[in-house]
Amino acid sequence: MDYYSSQITKLIEELSKLPGVGAKSAQRLAFHIINMPKEQVERLSSAMTDAKNNVRYCRECFTLTDQELCPICANPGRDHGVIMVVENTRDLAAYEKTGKFEGVYHVLHGAISPMLGIGPNDIKLKELMQRLQGDVKEVIIATNSSLEGETTAMYISKLIKPTGIKVSRIASGVPVGGDLEYIDEVTLLRALEGRIEL
Ligand code: ZN
Repeated sequence: MDYYSSQITKLIEELSKLPGVGAKSAQRLAFHIINMPKEQVERLSSAMTDAKNNVRYCRECFTLTDQELCPICANPGRDHGVIMVVENTRDLAAYEKTGKFEGVYHVLHGAISPMLGIGPNDIKLKELMQRLQGDVKEVIIATNSSLEGETTAMYISKLIKPTGIKVSRIASGVPVGGDLEYIDEVTLLRALEGRIEL
């Protein structure tokens, strides 16, 4: 690719490392960026650096945030006694978009997968168990309906059962293997409302 100047080549190379960006899109993006007004490029690059430097886990629910407590955990109007367990921050956003869930979340950052060598200690499970020492009425497990998501749900419910806290699983209206973030709000709501106690 040395028919471009080395700086363009470098930009294309970096862009093509992003998920879903192939060689062709990387080229298109690179030329688009070069043609953008300088201020816009600066806004883009500082948005990336700022996000990277300031985004961290919420102290309570482990979602990604730039505060010590995310806006949901910091909101006294939410029901802190109902915790919905999700695999990642994108799934949290999908449920938040429905605007109907009034509890709080716990973000695991992954799911148990013996095949990929991901065990209970590799996700934020200890942290969930610690939260349950507080005043919690119900834990709703909203992991994906993939093999990993189901394995994780089963594992968590076994851990929680002895504590006497109510554990439920979102209804299987969510298509098997479906990533929560791609499912429409109506389906998500139905899955939440039709949750089954484990
Ligand atoms: Zn939080």
